[in-house]
Order: sequence, then structure tokens, then C-alpha cells
Amino acid sequence: MEWDNDPTFQMAQRQFDEVSEVMNLDKNVAIRLREPDRAILISVPVRMEDGRVEVFDAYRVQHNDTRGPYKGGIRYAHDVTLGEVAALSMWMTWKCALMNLPLGGGKGGIRIEPTKYTRLELQRLTRRYTSELVAFIGPQMDIPAPDMGTNPQIMAWIMDTYSQLKGYAVPGVVTGKPTTIGGSLGRVEATGRGVAYTVLEAAKHLNYTIGADTKVAIQGFGNVGSHAALKFSKVGAKITHISDHTGGLVNLKGFNVQDVIEYMTKNNGTLKGYTEGDVISQTEVLTAKADILIPAATSSQIDDKIAAKLQCRIIGEGANGPTTIEGDRVLKEREKEIFVVPDVLANAGGVTVSYFEWVQGLQNFFWSAKEVNRELSNVMIKAFNEVLEVKKQHNVYMRTAAQILGIDRVAKAMLARGLYP
Ligand code: NAD
Repeated sequence: MEWDNDPTFQMAQRQFDEVSEVMNLDKNVAIRLREPDRAILISVPVRMEDGRVEVFDAYRVQHNDTRGPYKGGIRYAHDVTLGEVAALSMWMTWKCALMNLPLGGGKGGIRIEPTKYTRLELQRLTRRYTSELVAFIGPQMDIPAPDMGTNPQIMAWIMDTYSQLKGYAVPGVVTGKPTTIGGSLGRVEATGRGVAYTVLEAAKHLNYTIGADTKVAIQGFGNVGSHAALKFSKVGAKITHISDHTGGLVNLKGFNVQDVIEYMTKNNGTLKGYTEGDVISQTEVLTAKADILIPAATSSQIDDKIAAKLQCRIIGEGANGPTTIEGDRVLKEREKEIFVVPDVLANAGGVTVSYFEWVQGLQNFFWSAKEVNRELSNVMIKAFNEVLEVKKQHNVYMRTAAQILGIDRVAKAMLARGLYP
């Protein structure tokens, strides 16, 4: 398949192969799960405000729907590839199963640098992409959500376009919508909060008390990074190192997270020019002398060289696939020094609240923010401890344990359903 040569897809497949070996997975199930079910490739033409037409490469990859409809975000980024989206769709399958949600795995992406386009251009792009996908998505089939470069407004345009084409309102076609059209309270904050919940649980497991001396370094200060930062500062830790695509900053006294967020809102979403810290490189943020490291930007950020230099005690992987296979090998060797909460577990808060949103929408009964956060915390803590249990049982690394738990649930469902025809 087209995705076979993509490094991110190869990484997802190699991880899967290693885990299926360790867990002695049924060979017929393994051969099926190595590849996504289906990929939709679209050339999306968009009329720009100046009258020109630009064409964008866009994808939706559906990895597996054995346990329920395909579920996964849509990413707008300048370097999106089919292989990356395919890898992310596979990780979504394991993540949903690991969290025991009745959902499968999918992912979408459009190759575009969204900050360079106007609101109207992004709206036209989103609507055309949705109309091309109308036969393949839906509340019982495939339910997109926000990811890097997309947000509740973009979900609202998807929901509206899909509804216009169907002839009636279909809020359940996406999650991560604004609350005015059936979104869930707490969805925007969910991934970052979830990262913090699992890291707090990891600290408990390590008998490490999080307090005023705890330093947190965060790579990527977007949705996930900023909400993780808010939660960590709420429990008393100091956010000392932050970065985004424009560079890094350090402030050993701790950043005022709310102030950083307000600055970024006024500054086209970037940290550039923020003066309450000293400028450092993006790499220095990753390798900072901080107790907790949250990679919350993009994939393949921690390679073997960076992994060897890390100085943290706990990593909570907010991003998807932030650690390369080679980087992970080093982290495995350093397991006694650094505890890794792997991406499929750490960042599953988003899809968990997406699931709550889908359930609330189907029942037309909406929960309070307090209820959402309480349920999210319960689900994240339960999943963390289930993974820890598998880790102890099989004497394996946390990432392997998380994948064993997710893959095993998908495999059992596949074996129960059997192969059609
Ligand atoms: P976002 O677009 O809101 O933020 C991404 C941030 O990363 C931005 O601040 C950007 O400037 C920064 N960044 C990009 N490249 C960087 C680099 N090389 N160094 C430092 N910073 C860099 O995206 P998001 O929604 O916060 O997603 C971040 C990651 O979390 C992605 O890997 C995404 O797949 C994953 N994730 C997101 C969700 C969600 O609900 N949003 C759920 C699960 C996983």
C-alpha cells in the first residue's frame, strides 16, 4: 500500500509487530490489523479570497471498526502525509480499545498550513472536504473530531455541511463541537487534563509528591499543552519550560499560564515575543532539568539522541507518536530513571470526552462540567491502573503494556465476530 514507505506508519507497524509477538497474537488477526481497513484520498479545490483556486491533498483513513464506529481527529498541518494519517488511525484503534470505548480507530488530515489562510478560505476547505466524505462518515460509521490545527469551529462547519447534505441536523457526525450545537462541556480541556491525571497517577505509583518544587517542561503550547499546564499549575507544580513552533522559553520561577494563554490569543496563537521568560531552543525545552516532561506538539520529537539527554522523571506523552522507535529503545533502557506514560494512554482524555459527547448527543441529555471531569478522571485513572497491572503481569515496558491491553480487546472482538464472508 501507499503508506508502506512512510516512516511514521512504519513506526506504528513495527510497534504493532513487536507487541503482537510479545502477546502471541493470533496470526490471522495480526495480519489484518497491520493495515487500515480503508483510505480515502481527496484533492480539495478551494477558491481563495483573491479569486485563485488552490488544491489541497486530504485524507481520511479508517483503520478498524470491529468494536464500533471509526473515531479520530482531523489534522490540518503543512506536512501531513497519508502514512502519518494511517499510523494515527491505527493508534486510535488501540487507544479506544484501551479506554474500553465502543469505538474503532480512524484519522483525517489536510496538507495545509492553516495559519496562512483566512477564516473564509478555511471554511470553504472544510466544507468541500466534508462533502467529499459524506458517504463515508456519520454517527454510526465514522465520527471525526479536532486534532492539530483544527478546533470546535471547524467541527461546526463539518456538522453543518453534513447536515445540509442530509437534509436534517446531525450533531452526532462530529465531536468536539461548540456547546451551542451539542458539544460537551470539558471537551476542549479534556486531552490536556487527561495527560495531567495520568501523570499524577504515575507520580503516586512512584511515591513522588507533586508540589511547589515540581518543575514541568511542555513542548507545544496549543490545546493539549496549555490545558495540561493549567492543570499542573492548579495542583501546585511550576511550569518552567515551554515551547511552540516559533521557539522555547524558560522561567525557573514558573510561568503564569493564564497570562501566557492570553498573550498567545492576542499574538496569532504563538509564543513569539513573550517577554516573561528567557529564550531557549526547542531542544532545550525537551532536555530541560524538569521533573515532568510533556511533549504536546507533533510526532517523532524524541529520537535516540534526545532520549539519551532527557533529565525528567516522568514523561506524559500528550502528542501522538512523539517518541521514535530508536528513542523508545533508549527510554526502555532508562526505564528505572524515567517513567513513560505512553501516548495511547496519556492523551486518551480527548477521545474519552468525545465519547461522552456522542453519548450525551444520542440521549439528548447533557452533563455538567463537574460530571464530565469526574467521569474523565475516573476513566483515566482506571485505564492507568489496568495498564500498570498488565505491565506487572507480563513484566513489560508501559508502552508495550498499553498496546497489549488495547490490541487484546480488539483481537477478542474480531475473533468473536469472525471473518466476513
Ligand atoms: P495544537 O495545534 O493546538 O497545538 C500544537 C502546538 O505544537 C502549537 O503550539 C505549535 O506551535 C506547537 N509545535 C509544533 N511543532 C513544534 C515543534 N517542533 N516544537 C515545539 N512546538 C511545536 O494541537 P493540539 O490539539 O494541542 O495537539 C498536539 C498533539 O496532541 C498532536 O500530536 C495531537 O495529535 C495530539 N492530540 C491532540 C488531541 C486533542 O484533543 N486536541 C487529542 C489527542 C492527541
